[in-house]
Amino acid sequence: MSIQFPHGVTVPEIGIGTWFVGDEPSRRDEEIAAIRAGLDAGLRVIDTAEMYGDGRSEQLVGEAIRGRRDEVFLVSKVLPYNASEAGVRSAVHASLQRLGTDRLDLYLLHWRGSVPFDETVAAFERLQKDGDIGAWGVSNLGPDDMADLPHGCATDQVLYNPIRRGPELDLFPILRSRGIPVMAYSPLEQARLLDDPRLQALAVDSGLSAAQLVLAWVIRDGDVLAIPKAGSAGHARQNAALLGMTLSADVQAEIDRLFPAPQNPVPLEML
Ligand code: NDP
Repeated sequence: MSIQFPHGVTVPEIGIGTWFVGDEPSRRDEEIAAIRAGLDAGLRVIDTAEMYGDGRSEQLVGEAIRGRRDEVFLVSKVLPYNASEAGVRSAVHASLQRLGTDRLDLYLLHWRGSVPFDETVAAFERLQKDGDIGAWGVSNLGPDDMADLPHGCATDQVLYNPIRRGPELDLFPILRSRGIPVMAYSPLEQARLLDDPRLQALAVDSGLSAAQLVLAWVIRDGDVLAIPKAGSAGHARQNAALLGMTLSADVQAEIDRLFPAPQNPVPLEML
């Protein structure tokens, strides 16, 4: 079940998140090994941002993908206060330098700030034309923000997991109507969900780990890409082992029952 972006590129349904990766020097080797193990196991999307560790995440990703850039669908994000025409240009070049590459596959506006969308999108389109980025998208934009956005957006990266189901009600239908896939961030609620005994029991019954169970639920519809952060090769391999797997209807229904979606739309949540 691969995910298709509007510009026709397809990627596997699980990716690699990198928030807080690169912050702790003593963990560096293990974090690099985790990213490489994920790639070895078939993961392709790596998500980072100029914000993460003030560039340390991008630097570590650059080291991890050295010599294997072509295996990766590389995503980074520009901060809203760098989202002016000139700001985007200098931010992307700084990101490219830290990542040790000459192109991003996808460049996202991290959240909405005060720079008008038209200006940011014009800057993104220029980068696209120059070959610095393959596509552009956004993050943390709810339905009202999406309505203001010019045409051409490739994704909206939002908080989504069994206890953050608000976007199913209002945002996902809008994205689906435009053929825009979702990137689900913090799909494991930063591992807090994994302590839930009901999920643990269901995972055992399903022959999965709790993390795999939650991720399989997040990606169940075929147009949601989950980007869990894995700090060890073992976790990266476990997440990659889900590629191509479908959750049974019964197990899906049980998670829906344990973690019902809200009755009415709620403002988009952020971490
Ligand atoms: P996640 O929900 O991905 O949870 C990460 C935690 O889950 C880590 O503690 C990790 O442990 C653990 N974990 C991962 N895989 C397994 C496994 N197989 N078994 C057990 N534990 C596991 O949290 P994040 O907040 O990191 O979200 C993922 C990514 O989304 C970020 O890294 C970032 O790239 C992106 N993001 C984007 C935001 C935005 O505003 N656009 C905001 C927040 C995140 P360990 O490290 O030990 O493997």
